[in-house]
Amino acid sequence: MIVGVQRQMGEATNLRTQVGIVGAGPAGLLLGQLLHLNGIDSVIVENRGRDYVIDRVRAGVLEQGTVDLLNAMGVGGGLGRAGLRHEGLHVSFEGRRHRINLADLTGGKAITVYGQNEVVRDLIDARTATTRPLYFDAECVSVGALDSPTPVIRFQHGGTDHEVHCDFIAGCDGFHGVCRSSIPDGVLTVYERVYPFGWLGILAEATPSSDELVYTCHERGFALFSMRSPTITRLYLQVPPDESIDDWSDEAIWAEMLERMTARDGWRPNVGPILQKSVTPMRSFVVEPMRHGRLFLAGDSAHIVPPTGAKGLNLAAADVLVLARAMKAHYERGATAWLDEYSDVCVRRVWKAQRFSWWMTSTLHRFPGENAFDHRRRIADLDYLTGSRAAMTSLAEQYVGLPMEVSFDSAGL
Ligand SMILES: Cc1cc2nc3c(=O)[nH]c(=O)nc-3n(C[C@H](O)[C@H](O)[C@H](O)COP(=O)(O)OP(=O)(O)OC[C@H]3O[C@@H](n4cnc5c(N)ncnc54)[C@H](O)[C@@H]3O)c2cc1C
Repeated sequence: MIVGVQRQMGEATNLRTQVGIVGAGPAGLLLGQLLHLNGIDSVIVENRGRDYVIDRVRAGVLEQGTVDLLNAMGVGGGLGRAGLRHEGLHVSFEGRRHRINLADLTGGKAITVYGQNEVVRDLIDARTATTRPLYFDAECVSVGALDSPTPVIRFQHGGTDHEVHCDFIAGCDGFHGVCRSSIPDGVLTVYERVYPFGWLGILAEATPSSDELVYTCHERGFALFSMRSPTITRLYLQVPPDESIDDWSDEAIWAEMLERMTARDGWRPNVGPILQKSVTPMRSFVVEPMRHGRLFLAGDSAHIVPPTGAKGLNLAAADVLVLARAMKAHYERGATAWLDEYSDVCVRRVWKAQRFSWWMTSTLHRFPGENAFDHRRRIADLDYLTGSRAAMTSLAEQYVGLPMEVSFDSAGL
């Protein structure tokens, strides 16, 4: 097999690789690194620029298993230096904060707050060090011949047409990418729920006023206190899904944040200059199967969760671990069973994360048209949660992350 060798055929530059990866988000970069550690060649094709990909502000909560995975892969240096380990979180309702001790309830597990942009930066650095190809700013990206032994990724880069001929393609190009939509009609079953609200998120230059996250259920709607570093606070507000961020002045944002989050004991977020603000709609979405022919979907290209449970990035990591194990078995032993099982293994965990994210979202948010009964029932749900060790244990083990479906060892780590 010719790997990574270029030759000219007409106008297009042709490359041959083992695994073509579309998308340099967490899923694509993690997969590329896992394959590299197993001596498997890959080409990553990303349609945005390097800075855009790194600067995109998204997730920030890493499950214990994701932290362990990054460390086992040798890319946990930045995480170890700057990640903030949280052994608990707070749920606040009717003005009172209740702490859930995640570590105590899960035998010492925790979550780590480390921005997705930092994860992506670390992974791009690791990829660059391998000298394996990573194309940023690719244009007109498409995939084809998915049912054939050599599927192909086509794109333009620097004014030249490129074709990457692969054994497999990993569709790691997120919810709006091209891979899922290249699968013929009728192959995928789509499961979807769109929520009647979104999150207005801000990054503020303000020292976090709590060492741990605070999830607030308020009559005016949900609010979340989080952080990105010892000097940067990250806050969210439930807003209508089509809300324009231009309708929210910084003063209005802070007034609403403080209204919802200030507790009876006086706790509230510290206020500071807003560095970034945006509104994100919320949905639950799954396609099955996560495979068609030699195309494997991973991460947001196959499933979206509302961010309340902080599962999106973590699910992407779990998917690519399963995929790396299958690819390793294929290339080392010619075994295809794990490739065939890929979708079934992933969706089992995906659905549990979907259920948890839906439950967190439904319990903590105010739904349009909700009446006093609905509100009291949600408060009772939270009252039960914070008063029952069994209920808190259930939340804790899901929040720190259910076990990965496959061992690191089986994926070559
Ligand atoms: C605004 C926002 C806020 C979020 N906040 C949270 C949060 O607080 N907590 C949480 O857990 N999760 C959050 N998420 C979800 C989390 O960020 C995702 O689950 C995670 O990024 C999934 O990683 P991924 O690699 O599968 O997809 P992505 O991160 O979307 O990466 C896909 C990559 O593919 C690239 N791409 C797209 N189309 C093409 C194409 N045609 N050709 C080549 N490349 C392409 C994209 O540019 C991107 O780099 C948020 C998501 C969004 C959109």
